[in-house]
Amino acid sequence: MARKDTSTHNSYKLSDSSFDRIESTNVLIIGNGPSAITLSFLLAGHWPCYSPEDFPSPNENVTNATLQNIHDRLLYHCAMDSCNHDEYGNQHESISKPKLRSLMESDLREIGENLVGRTGANPISVLMDQLQHPNADFGERNPSMLKWTYRPDRRVDHIVIGSSESPGGIWHAIAKTCSSKLCSNSTTEMLTLSRRSLMQLPVLPIYDDENHQNDSDGELPSDNRVPYRVVANYYRRYVNHFGLDEFFHNHTRATLLDWDPIDQCFIVDASCRKSSSSNQRKYRVRYRAKRVVLAKGTSTMPRMLNIQGETFPFVLHSLTKLDVIIRQTQLLPCWRLPILSTSRTQSPDPILIVGSGLSAADALILLSQRCQRRPLRIIHLFRKSIRDRSLIFNQIATNDSNYPEYYQVFQKMKHSVQNNIHCLECLPHHHSPPSSTSSSKQLSLRFEYYQAYQECILSSIQTTANGHRTATLEFLNKNKSDSTLCCHCNRPINHQLTVRITFALILIGSSPQLDFVNENIRQRMARDSTAPIDHRLNPISIDPYTHECKDVPGLYALGPLVGDNFVRYVQGGALAAANHIYHDERNQNSNYGSIIIDSSNHSSLFDIDDS
Ligand SMILES: Cc1cc2nc3c(=O)[nH]c(=O)nc-3n(C[C@H](O)[C@H](O)[C@H](O)COP(=O)(O)OP(=O)(O)OC[C@H]3O[C@@H](n4cnc5c(N)ncnc54)[C@H](O)[C@@H]3O)c2cc1C
Repeated sequence: MARKDTSTHNSYKLSDSSFDRIESTNVLIIGNGPSAITLSFLLAGHWPCYSPEDFPSPNENVTNATLQNIHDRLLYHCAMDSCNHDEYGNQHESISKPKLRSLMESDLREIGENLVGRTGANPISVLMDQLQHPNADFGERNPSMLKWTYRPDRRVDHIVIGSSESPGGIWHAIAKTCSSKLCSNSTTEMLTLSRRSLMQLPVLPIYDDENHQNDSDGELPSDNRVPYRVVANYYRRYVNHFGLDEFFHNHTRATLLDWDPIDQCFIVDASCRKSSSSNQRKYRVRYRAKRVVLAKGTSTMPRMLNIQGETFPFVLHSLTKLDVIIRQTQLLPCWRLPILSTSRTQSPDPILIVGSGLSAADALILLSQRCQRRPLRIIHLFRKSIRDRSLIFNQIATNDSNYPEYYQVFQKMKHSVQNNIHCLECLPHHHSPPSSTSSSKQLSLRFEYYQAYQECILSSIQTTANGHRTATLEFLNKNKSDSTLCCHCNRPINHQLTVRITFALILIGSSPQLDFVNENIRQRMARDSTAPIDHRLNPISIDPYTHECKDVPGLYALGPLVGDNFVRYVQGGALAAANHIYHDERNQNSNYGSIIIDSSNHSSLFDIDDS
């Protein structure tokens, strides 16, 4: 894929007078989701502490070697901290214990060395997760082993900017997509993959306002999955609860990240939207910051297949866009479906879904729920084999106890791939028999027609002279004997199939959108400087114990951008960065909030391309 050269038009040299406001800060955080909220919480002076005395007696049924290892290291390595600044009242007695240690002042490199989690999370992310959710991976729900203390005297000046309208990052977008009026009752509302306790940020419990569930009565309520809507509201409430609003500039999108060699600081240009009841105003802000933290997630730019026809307007790459289409009634009421068939009595052409991740499953659920009146026809294809162990469904949806809706989707996929219909002639007449799971009380996936193809890729999308939209599918399993005949009509099959479609949904993941970062910096951030950054193939190269970019001092990256894909893990990345920033400040003995003009750490960072 060609790299976009941003070095010429993204220039920090745009004069300050072009901006409506100039702001200076010590730490600028880009993104306002769970990673940024946790980092802001820590930098505001909320410090996690740990007392080895609180280590629970070993559970006879569970041997958690990682947690035991952490405990042993904490015993030896945590710095002493008196923690006399408690402002959480009810915890005062326990946090005043003399042996309480602060993780902000500890050497995390020693404590977290070589810790490995189940999902490839970074070591400090594993450390924090183990302490906050002891034995969670063994299905246990235990109180956090961390105590929190408030140190306003150690507060680090920072600003959080984020494009979403309120703190919570991607959660506001997905809550909006999946919680529209059409599925607002609790039985059909989309739920998080993780249990409630694993969606929480430090100290403040999530509770569902409507169910009046609360941890504060001392009892742990059932630890179920929660609706997206509840999570989005919780993150907004969290920022408000801890008075972090003053640090948050929402509705603010970074458009340029560059380095100013004269003032020896980062420059972040941003466009902001301010809406009042009567109008909406756009203005531009330039931030100057000693440090920048990228906490922008990876969900803003969908991954593309880069095939012919992918940019047609009837090809969608996100659930949000699907939702917009549904809301704009192109799909609903169902009789308004863009029917391309000549006869009004004939069924509309199928919808094509590409991908085998949770987004593709969510799309199926969404389409089934919203189009109950007139079930749709679906063709679903994915590159992997249904038996591939890396398929998310083989990890989480092998029984219907934890994720019943994904279990149903998986059952439907498995049942359908066995049909193996590769004949165009067979497709339109074939109706899949009701799957064994369709009787579930919680959700019934209803389609007029559903055909899944494993080990299959979409090779192109076309429009024909008579206005039809078509997609060409290619089957990868050419050499397998069981794929030589159509299981429906027994005719030899083709390895390519062109089908008519209504529209296509390509849901194959996302890429980190880093176009706004100066090319010079981007190259230094990447593990392989000659290839575009991709969180899976060519990730940002960070020190795993500080989350600082190895080759760009002062620039940090958190969350899914660097492999911490779940909320329970993003918090450890924030701790790693906050701890490093705190130590760095202490070593440099600099003034918070001001730009260090003569910082040796930042000098001669980049060879700025003046061309
Ligand atoms: C459909 C779905 C379901 C999920 N379910 C779960 C689950 O059950 N459990 C779980 O633990 N995790 C889940 N995740 C993953 C979870 O969303 C992430 O782990 C978490 O949100 C990461 O937090 P973050 O703050 O790093 O990034 P995000 O939450 O992605 O927030 C980043 C924010 O930065 C903003 N931004 C992007 N670019 C810019 C810019 N240039 N300038 C300013 N702001 C910018 C974005 O708009 C976004 O608001 C799910 C994700 C998705 C997409």
